[in-house]
Amino acid sequence: ARQLMWFRSDLRTLDNTALAAAARRGPVIAVFLHCPEQWRGHGHGANKIDFLRRGVKALRDALAGLNIPLVQRDIGRFEAAPQALVALAREHHAEALHFNREYPLDERRRDAAVGDACQAIGLSVHGYTDGLAFEPGELLSGQGDYYRVFTPFAKAWHRRIDAARLALRDTPAPQTRQPIAGDPLPEAPEYPERPVDAALWPAGQEAAADRLARFLRFRARHYAEQRDRPALAGTSELSPYLALGMLSPRQCLQAAMSENDGHLGDGDKGLTSWINELVWREFYQHIVVGFPEVCRYRPFQTHTDKLAWRHDDANFAAWCEGRTGYPLVDAAMRQLVQTGWMHNRLRMVTAMFLTKHLLIDWRRGEAFFLGHLVDGEFAANNGGWQWAASTGTDAAPYFRIFNPTTQASRFDPDGRFIAHYLPELADLPARARHAPPRDGLGTNGYPAPIVDHKAARLRALDAFKALANV
Ligand code: FAD
Repeated sequence: ARQLMWFRSDLRTLDNTALAAAARRGPVIAVFLHCPEQWRGHGHGANKIDFLRRGVKALRDALAGLNIPLVQRDIGRFEAAPQALVALAREHHAEALHFNREYPLDERRRDAAVGDACQAIGLSVHGYTDGLAFEPGELLSGQGDYYRVFTPFAKAWHRRIDAARLALRDTPAPQTRQPIAGDPLPEAPEYPERPVDAALWPAGQEAAADRLARFLRFRARHYAEQRDRPALAGTSELSPYLALGMLSPRQCLQAAMSENDGHLGDGDKGLTSWINELVWREFYQHIVVGFPEVCRYRPFQTHTDKLAWRHDDANFAAWCEGRTGYPLVDAAMRQLVQTGWMHNRLRMVTAMFLTKHLLIDWRRGEAFFLGHLVDGEFAANNGGWQWAASTGTDAAPYFRIFNPTTQASRFDPDGRFIAHYLPELADLPARARHAPPRDGLGTNGYPAPIVDHKAARLRALDAFKALANV
């Protein structure tokens, strides 16, 4: 009997839990539901949606190699998913619906509604744990609660991980051709801005596997020393592929382990610290299930909701446009806008600058990031922003405020990254690129700092201290 496989953020045929299970039961028809209004409502911008659409195309080609047709519908919003899937199941006489679970609140609500609608017509529904080693709720503290901090979560993760959770799922064998034509991509939704050059982010599972192989071959062993140096491109740049499931964490973990004599937790420092980042990714996915308030624009630490954020549109625009007068912050923001991606160290630096130096609500920065990131993903983005704003799980304590000039000299010592994105400063010697001369000589119109570090720091400290009194 026919099986419907509903693809969402798992755009691959390799190592796909739901697809492997569906194919074991019968011939598969693949489905992708485009939800442009929902995506827009969630704040994703042209970069992510363009990458997603190219990913769906690449998936369609990979499925064609297995004789699996890909049916596509533009349904606008999640609310229309139950009806669309029931109609497809009827049209194709499907026996069951399969999908890999997604964890933010709207996605879980959508899946629950789909489950009810399918049950009503006698269609069986199968959800699978695929993008995570552990289903949220499987790793709990001794008191039976979700972990609120990363380190004990990571310890539990390492204690309980086993071969079955890490084993790659079977790729289905080509099936008998079915008399069902797949669909072309629906028309692209309109966005005010054009997406970044597609060549920066080639889509699909093959491009992802290539990147993983190159990272492990050339960069992984230096990851521990180079991961904080944006000019060195020492990280994997796999986040867009993981966010849309063109690559699975199992594929990453397996490949890293085989470079590391089979180990996850000990061995090469570069490889183990990279594996640790994949555990961070999983941690934030558990957080959105354990603390669904974070999906409702609420801070993880509820008392911080009272913080007196400043409503300063001019400062916010300067941050967005890379005109704060702090070169590392500005270079980073230009990297984001020009490439759809930003280095992790710089995500921390820019997020902390917005929330501490400018004392602007982290939710505005969170939305701006999502609107530009190719890898924009709710759980990691929200987790990162709340970390920087000191409102989140492992939050940076509010009094530890990065000095953006010191960060520049530590992590971009020769000013190479700054000069790349701020060519107006390229003629200055390295040290002056970290803090350009105030007289404007040789800075080609680069702006003076919009806030003074010391004064801004004190203002942020006062705002956080005031929380204790409200
Ligand atoms: P690598 O260093 O090669 O790490 C490998 C993978 O681990 C990444 O691809 C990613 O999937 C995961 N990972 C690494 N660091 C983190 C982390 N801190 N939290 C969760 N997962 C992590 N990541 C996103 O995928 N999407 C986002 O929207 C996002 N927004 C962020 C916003 C802020 C303010 C901050 C501080 C971090 C954010 N991150 C986000 C996490 C991190 O910055 C990126 O995952 C990382 O920079 C991607 O680069 P990479 O693939 O080269 O990472």
